Amino acid sequence: MGVRRRFILWDVDGTLVSAGPAARDAFDLAVAATVGRSPHGHGVEMSGKTDPQIAMEILAALELSEGEARGHLPVVLRSLEEELQTAADLVREHGRVMPGIGTLLPELHAAAGVVQSVLTGNLEANARLKVGTFGLHRWLDLDVGAYGSDDQDRSRLVPVALAKVRDRRGIRFEPGDVWVVGDTPLDLACARAGGARCLLVATGRFGFEELAGLGADAVLSDVTETGAVANLLLSDGEAGSEG
Ligand SMILES: [Mg+2]
Repeated sequence: MGVRRRFILWDVDGTLVSAGPAARDAFDLAVAATVGRSPHGHGVEMSGKTDPQIAMEILAALELSEGEARGHLPVVLRSLEEELQTAADLVREHGRVMPGIGTLLPELHAAAGVVQSVLTGNLEANARLKVGTFGLHRWLDLDVGAYGSDDQDRSRLVPVALAKVRDRRGIRFEPGDVWVVGDTPLDLACARAGGARCLLVATGRFGFEELAGLGADAVLSDVTETGAVANLLLSDGEAGSEG
């Protein structure tokens, strides 16, 4: 056996970082700037969804037709990037890196045969801002990540990342080489749709008990046991084996 090849795709919000309330507020500001009405109190659940999907749901909550919402969407998404850029200091101030991440990412970065990037519902610019704010971009090859700006449907994002790492880095990973690490059932669904393994972590909105019964390859409260988590992600074991 040669070097274990692993393509590790990290979800951003609730998994690598919490960007704080500014990230949620950016949606309200972007929609209000575009349609002239505040969607405050829209109640749209954001966890695990792509930014375009969230924007469409907020526009629907304002009782815009699907056609009207689609018409507004490009402007809302451009505005969303601007609003988050404007709020970068608030993200730095009120956001945080999830426990263990600051140790685990460099450990995996140092392992041979490993490429780490992100698989996230965020628009690419917003994902870059969130991870860059906390210095995590050093350990992630963000040019080969898959983003909400690549596809509104998260379940199509594993093949997007595989194509980018092949085209931009000349590395042909198989779906079986891929781990998706995320904090919601939608992260698991996207891993399964792409034939990847999935580690779920209970550092976001969902508790360990809620995530434990979903059938992921592994479920952890957090990744603070960094040595064990690295062993799990680098192991040759079949899906289903626990580290
Ligand atoms: Mg998440």
